[in-house]
Amino acid sequence: MLAVGMIRGQPGVHAFELPMPEIKRPDDVLIKVKEVSPDGTDFNILRYNLQDIADGQNEIALGHEMVGIVEEVGSGVKSLVPGDAVTMTVRRGCGQCQPCLHNQSDMCMTGLFTERGIHKLDGFLTQFVVDQEQYIVKVPPHLVKLAVLTEPLSIVEKGIEQIRTIQSRFPWTCVHPEHSFFSENWGGCKSALVVGAGPLGLLATALLRLAGVNTFTSNLVSEDSPKAHLVKQMGANYINNSNVEPKELVERYCAAGNLDIIFEASGAADTALELINCMRRSSIYVMTGIPRGDLIMQVDAAQLVRQLVRQNQVLVGSVNSNRSHFEMALRDMGEVDSRFNGVLQAMLTHRYRLEEYEKVFEPRGPEHVKTVIEVEAWS
Ligand SMILES: [Zn+2]
Ligand SMILES: [Zn+2]
Repeated sequence: MLAVGMIRGQPGVHAFELPMPEIKRPDDVLIKVKEVSPDGTDFNILRYNLQDIADGQNEIALGHEMVGIVEEVGSGVKSLVPGDAVTMTVRRGCGQCQPCLHNQSDMCMTGLFTERGIHKLDGFLTQFVVDQEQYIVKVPPHLVKLAVLTEPLSIVEKGIEQIRTIQSRFPWTCVHPEHSFFSENWGGCKSALVVGAGPLGLLATALLRLAGVNTFTSNLVSEDSPKAHLVKQMGANYINNSNVEPKELVERYCAAGNLDIIFEASGAADTALELINCMRRSSIYVMTGIPRGDLIMQVDAAQLVRQLVRQNQVLVGSVNSNRSHFEMALRDMGEVDSRFNGVLQAMLTHRYRLEEYEKVFEPRGPEHVKTVIEVEAWS
């Protein structure tokens, strides 16, 4: 069967043949892939030639955001039947640490995990995949056309979960007890800056707005670009920060600098670091963007440590997601799309067939938000 990814020692994207996968364990599930969406990780893997192919293999299929249909199930599979729409988690645990042994491989303690389409394991840019039932999440029928966004939304769900879990350390953020970080209406009376309006920044904006957070989302594109429109469609404020210093960005444009949350989703390391100076007392800053290469900066270490200590501030990194975050994403997905007038559908700006894989990874203009690769069209 056809697969698209990288071949050892050869830069760029290639098509190659993989053997048809087979059910080998009772809990295995065979899935026909319908759609895959490439993301920043895939673009970076190709741009920087970050080949991470398993020993003994000559190629790796890319793609880790997918939706498919169950084709066949092993004898021990309980929750899925042929015909179910499904999506799949990405990381496979190390099998050694307690988080991995308890379905929380996103918090792996050893670093010996693998990841489909990224780190040692074939991804989903192919016609069929097999995996264990525990990594496969059922998609409700009304969400199949959006479900390719489940994985990126799950990344953001985890980021928000980190914020709420950590900030529940102080319930009295405002005079309303119903606005505590543990409550369903936790976003009331709160402000956030989302840095970056790529898919993760837009999805973070969506979940913050769903919770009622006064949200400011910044990016380098102009006010009339599709990304800026999508931000505004969700009732958030768009800021073109192309000529704005981080301090000015926060003090001048974002709720008079009284930000409870900073959500970094751009991977711009210099801005990310400078924004620490702009944190409010007791606030939290979650970083999800992953910078590439090196960037050396001078910092006043004493000032930085003093500020974090004296102002009870939290910096937290968040990567990957586990099954629970996929389930949260599928719970929120329909509401996000209907509340904000089809914003998720509108994010899917470009579509290609699998055979057009070379076009998928060409450089994109500001009109691009997210690409969908149709492995097999919906009938
Ligand atoms: Zn582990
Ligand atoms: Zn309040």
